[in-house]
Amino acid sequence: MSMAMAIDVRGWCPGILQPMQSGDGLIVRVRPHGGAFALHEARVLADLAARLGNGHVDLTRRANLQLRGLSEQALPELQTALGRLSLVDAEAEVEAVRNVMVAPLARTMRQVAEAIEQRLVEDSRLRALPAKFGVLVDEGGPLSIANERADVALRLVGRDVALGLDTLDGTQWLGMCALDVAADIAVSAMHLFLDRTPARRMRDLQARDHAAVVAALVPKLSQFVPFETNGARRLGLLDGAVGIAAPFGRLEATQLRRLADLAGEAVATELRLSPWRAIYIEAPSEALLRGARDAGLIVNESDPVLRIEACPGAPDCKSASVDTRGDARRLAAHGFTGSIHVSGCAKGCARTAPSDLVLVGEGGRYRLAHNATAQAATERMVEAADIASALPGAAHG
Ligand code: SF4
Repeated sequence: MSMAMAIDVRGWCPGILQPMQSGDGLIVRVRPHGGAFALHEARVLADLAARLGNGHVDLTRRANLQLRGLSEQALPELQTALGRLSLVDAEAEVEAVRNVMVAPLARTMRQVAEAIEQRLVEDSRLRALPAKFGVLVDEGGPLSIANERADVALRLVGRDVALGLDTLDGTQWLGMCALDVAADIAVSAMHLFLDRTPARRMRDLQARDHAAVVAALVPKLSQFVPFETNGARRLGLLDGAVGIAAPFGRLEATQLRRLADLAGEAVATELRLSPWRAIYIEAPSEALLRGARDAGLIVNESDPVLRIEACPGAPDCKSASVDTRGDARRLAAHGFTGSIHVSGCAKGCARTAPSDLVLVGEGGRYRLAHNATAQAATERMVEAADIASALPGAAHG
């Protein structure tokens, strides 16, 4: 295993071998195998976050876990511990391209996801894929992730698999293939993309290059069979599982450890990740849900905290002058409709899309704007101590 130093390169995704520098130290992204962490892996991650990081574990929108606040000195111990769990790839270049997002309760398609991961590890040409290039593997049903974006998408439909490519207008489904060749065809799509780089993403290909990729893939496929896609985050007691979210997508190390213990008591074996920053556990257990709620996690889709996005803020991020998540929790205690983004600064790490209400920290106060991103012009200033005055209908001076 090659140990590399931290870098700060635009467009790079942080890994275990190649962490990213941020205001609060190094960020390390841990990619699961097959979209899930075994319970003993989750316990080790919680321990490492508490001992070597800032005590938190972030759930990412690409269904990975992320540790923050690490020092250069802590890296070798972290890499060794994760290496023992086989969570470290042989090279940073392999880790960077092992971006396979799996539907949280997938069964049949999990073998396809693992086959694609294996190919990403073994096929040296695929190391040239751009760092953000990703594959989505879906199985349909209420927790389908087919509405998410990925450069190459696979979706089980009946006994066959639909193949799609990302375009500027969303996923373009090209046709069907048999389950046992789905991984091969997905890898073909990656090679065809590489034949036409330097595009950064599949959707960035020139029209003629995109047409050439499609023309090469279509003969390998049978006619597309349309399907309904209504998958979305669902929390609480589900059919055969429970769904649990963390406030602002961040677990405290103690919460992650507790979740692993609760899952073990419910005779589950894994924590399954999702792009909704929620964790799924295959154990439809009321006791598990109660325990998660008592640990401060979210088990109800109507929880107002789910409608607020907030970056780590102060003191975790040096760019922030406000306690974004503390202030966001106080906001959540008040009734409101719509979406809210509480950002520590104009960079807006937590959300790039506009929100109904956006609050951006500056000099210990917040700039307020509506239907905007964190870069919007200021409508008025709000004191952090009086953040509830930002809500519609609140009195403000
Ligand atoms: S948006 Fe938040 S996390 Fe990102 S740099 Fe600003 S303060 Fe830091």
